[in-house]
Amino acid sequence: MDGAAANAHTMLSETFGFDRFRPMQEDIVTSVTDGEDTLAILPTGGGKSLCYQLPALLRPGLTVVISPLIALMRDQVRALREAGVAAGALTSGNTEDETNAVFEALHAGTLKLLYMAPERLASGGTDRLLSQAGVTLLAVDEAHCVSQWGHDFRPDYLRIGALRRMLDVPLAAFTATADSETQAEIITRLFGDTNPRTFLGGFDRPNIHLAFAAKNKPREQILGFAAARKGQSGIVYCGTRAKTETLAKALNDAGHSALAYHGGMDPDTRREVERRFQTDDGLIVVATVAFGMGIDKPDIRWVAHADMPKSIEAYYQEIGRSGRDGDPAETLTLYGADDIRFRRMQIDESLAPPERRMADHGRLNALLGLAEALGCRRKQLLGYFDEAHDACGNCDLCTTPPETFEGTEAVMKALSAILRTGESFGAGHLIDILVGATTEKVRTRGHDKLPTFGVGQDIDRRHWTAIFRQMMGHDLVRPDPERHGALRMTAIARPILKGEQAITLRKDALTALPRRPQAKAMVSEEDAPLLSALKAKRRALAEARRAPAYVIFPDRTLIEMAEKRPQTLDDMAGISGIGEKKLERYGAAFLEIITGEAAAPNHPARRKLSGRAAATIYDRLLAAQADLSRGPDGTGKPMSCSAALLAKIAALGPNAGDRLNQLLGDRLADRFGPAFAEVLAEN
Ligand code: ADP
Ligand code: ZN
Repeated sequence: MDGAAANAHTMLSETFGFDRFRPMQEDIVTSVTDGEDTLAILPTGGGKSLCYQLPALLRPGLTVVISPLIALMRDQVRALREAGVAAGALTSGNTEDETNAVFEALHAGTLKLLYMAPERLASGGTDRLLSQAGVTLLAVDEAHCVSQWGHDFRPDYLRIGALRRMLDVPLAAFTATADSETQAEIITRLFGDTNPRTFLGGFDRPNIHLAFAAKNKPREQILGFAAARKGQSGIVYCGTRAKTETLAKALNDAGHSALAYHGGMDPDTRREVERRFQTDDGLIVVATVAFGMGIDKPDIRWVAHADMPKSIEAYYQEIGRSGRDGDPAETLTLYGADDIRFRRMQIDESLAPPERRMADHGRLNALLGLAEALGCRRKQLLGYFDEAHDACGNCDLCTTPPETFEGTEAVMKALSAILRTGESFGAGHLIDILVGATTEKVRTRGHDKLPTFGVGQDIDRRHWTAIFRQMMGHDLVRPDPERHGALRMTAIARPILKGEQAITLRKDALTALPRRPQAKAMVSEEDAPLLSALKAKRRALAEARRAPAYVIFPDRTLIEMAEKRPQTLDDMAGISGIGEKKLERYGAAFLEIITGEAAAPNHPARRKLSGRAAATIYDRLLAAQADLSRGPDGTGKPMSCSAALLAKIAALGPNAGDRLNQLLGDRLADRFGPAFAEVLAEN
């Protein structure tokens, strides 16, 4: 290892607390540190920030980072400062004091990283400011925002090219959007004539578990999925605004803390939901797709679709919001015949030109193919993005391969029913004909006289419903946009109807309610109470600093602490994610939780606490108790309260008075009384 590489490794572990680089990071860091123009395309969560933060520290002078996500910038600056790095941001979210502090540091020449919102580039003073600030590197995050054809276009990104020419410094651009047109546009607009060194990191997000389920009492399916992940941050995407509100309510009634979010809410309320989601631990947001753009929370543990997304790209982007920290994340996408009809209709009724609508149907088909897949979902998903992959072992179909059956005959019968009724009816009526049900409608139309009447009696109604859904999923039939709900046969179905081609269908999608999905626990049962105590401590510290929890430590660091149980600060330094500065700042506080007598915070008593307020108070009490478990000077005899007692205290409210000490009894009141009274008074 040469000197520069050795420095990078030292800094990786000392400042950032990581033992090793993620795939591609090291090469990118080397390229950027060497001052080469660099374009890096890494999937979300691949660790792009490190690829400019580390070079910024290894290079002399100042690195300017352009990023469109203000919340993200602020968090990163906070996290960098926690790690002892001189970083600042100039954004519209700054207070005057913050801005002044940044200017002072710039003048003093002490700043290493300056984050800037692109809007800043439009203001006259910025060029002057930067030309005198000793900038040696320009880093551009979310570089696809320069693409005029993309969804995230930011006109101010077009100014970056000129800024680079003026400063005459190397530029490093980062994005997760990999299609070749966007890439080409980034290169022309940001790099001009020079060709950057390009690193392409691939689409796979191996830590995200993929699963689909056909809708069957969808509300129960979502509640079941959430119940298995109680206390973890998650997003539920819904197709309509109204549904976000009813589902959020259902989740709250089931004891979760959930908030609704949609485009019809006023901007202040929306911002407040975004803020709470970003900072709180374990909140569920039930949202329309309006939610997500500004969200950059690394520890979202799950994403569920209560309704099917509109395309395979949308699906990839939405599930991709989970697990950015690289830790396991889980997803569940529900879909049904109604979704398929709704999405088809949406495309047909859009004002887009015909070629565009064709392409949109294609993207929807790709998603439906994924929903009805017979083998590994990841393989199929990545295949869509032209990436080859073996069976992944981390999707529902790898774990439980679907039962299939030879579906050709059933499909031929269904198609015949459709054609003999003039392609004018929806699945419900067609199934009546197939199973031979003499309904009013069947009789009045004379459909009981058709040769197809009753030919499908060997299959029950529920199974037929699933067959029709799969026929729509394979695009053999489409709802007719002119005639509400009526199914038309497509050209793809012709060879099957003629007996030239066979089709295999899934059987498992036909069974009743899927078994309740079980979440993988983050740690073993034995370590779970300690992990909860560590999280409570983290929450208390984060609240005191008014920062998101993960800025203190990411989940992964706490999990490793819970598993390895370091006994000294030296041991603590060996935990991933703990650099020198963080060790100094927080090491002792967390060590005390590990070595002191930690109570079992995930005790049923804690879970039973209804309403968020009491639960938060409970956690604060727990943190206060942990602080004092060996007395104020840390040398006393370990003491703690039972979980049931803490729950009772949490319920006391601010004017607990004597009741608190009565509950505690003399011995415990001596140690914890004043601290607990303070916690209660604050709430
Ligand atoms: P991206 O911007 O590519 O979506 P981030 O830069 O936000 O991803 O990084 C995602 C997460 O991975 C962060 O929590 C970060 O601290 C963590 N991370 C980055 N590099 C490493 C590494 N080498 N080892 C462990 N964790 C890392
Ligand atoms: Zn798989």
